Amino acid sequence: MMNVDKIREDFPILNRTVHGKPLVYFDNAATSQTPQVVIDTIVDYYSNYNANIHRGVHTLSQEATDKYEEARIKIQKHFNAKKPYEIILTSGTTHSINMVASGFASLLEKGDEIIVSALEHHSNIVPWQMLCEKTGAILQVIPMNDEGELQMNVFHQLVSTKTKLVFCNHVSNALGTINPIEEIISTAHKFGAAVLIDGAQATPHIKPDVQALDVDFYVASAHKLCGPTGVGMLYGKEEWLQKLPPYQGGGEMIETVSFQKTTYAGLPHKFEAGTPNICGGIAFGAAIDYMNSIGFEAIAEYENELLVYATAELLKIDGLKIFGTSKNKTAVISFNVGEIHPYDIGSILDKLGIAVRTGHHCAQPIMDFYKIPGTIRASFSFYNTKEEIDTLVKGVKKATMMLS
Ligand code: PMP
Repeated sequence: MMNVDKIREDFPILNRTVHGKPLVYFDNAATSQTPQVVIDTIVDYYSNYNANIHRGVHTLSQEATDKYEEARIKIQKHFNAKKPYEIILTSGTTHSINMVASGFASLLEKGDEIIVSALEHHSNIVPWQMLCEKTGAILQVIPMNDEGELQMNVFHQLVSTKTKLVFCNHVSNALGTINPIEEIISTAHKFGAAVLIDGAQATPHIKPDVQALDVDFYVASAHKLCGPTGVGMLYGKEEWLQKLPPYQGGGEMIETVSFQKTTYAGLPHKFEAGTPNICGGIAFGAAIDYMNSIGFEAIAEYENELLVYATAELLKIDGLKIFGTSKNKTAVISFNVGEIHPYDIGSILDKLGIAVRTGHHCAQPIMDFYKIPGTIRASFSFYNTKEEIDTLVKGVKKATMMLS
């Protein structure tokens, strides 16, 4: 059982008010809030051992390097990667995806096929379109159904020996659908295709085991799981990371440099050019420790309780429609009320201290599928409560009355 009152004490921001009302933070899918231990880790770094890593002989540099590499090992253990150097620290999911897309430019040929899902965030669509433009590869899409699930029968028809890559998010940011990634990975592998899973929305709720999944690449952002912004990870199987060329040239990623020839450093440094987000990486490790101290099973169970409660209460509102009704979803509710524009409801909710996201959620193809401009998205975390959901429901009712 989770002690939510106690957990809430870990998050100083939850004590603030917005427009004179207690903050109700339901924009967790955009970014999660930061617990005191992570804030303390950041303060400790800048107060006590701020230094550049990997190349200093002095004590501060050694301490910072040790903590940064300890964080990499925490991340490795969390995702169950075989080796620490299979974890590349990046600036976030978008950076990680672009690293892989850019690397594949040299491995693809005209006519090769790439499959993405209809449920992707723009950051898992645009880099692949750019890759197709560069290489002449063809982009294919696994369509979705009304419930917001992937039509897996179509995926099985699309995949062939021409398929070189498959990309899919583990959880949809716009709808919360948990995608059947195990089936996608094992099917793609039968045809020799590599698979990248975008775990940006899954990692706050699910602890993925990259070896059990047998996934080739798995990417995530720290800020979605209680860490800071500007840092994330790319897991890649060693064989793939060896095969891909470096993403950026610069310091840290070389072994030797001369004007005749440069040789690249080994993993993970080959992909970590320049001074990284040192403090961010260390705080990412602290965030993972924090989430594990609560426990992902307890998190999933409690968040599902919030989801079931909020779904039932919201559906009591006249004209409210939920988009994404899969039984297999995380605690995200995307909805509209009648023809009212989501932005108008979102603005009134803000005046009541309630933070939700409105718009297309960087997933315009999903909005096009439903023929809507956007939705209101309430996304819950383990520090939210049923009382906060009651406040949301009251707020939506009030906004609806005002705008009808
Ligand atoms: N993919 C998904 C599914 C996301 O939800 C997000 C963030 N909204 C991203 C990718 C991009 O993450 P970041 O902005 O941290 O790079």
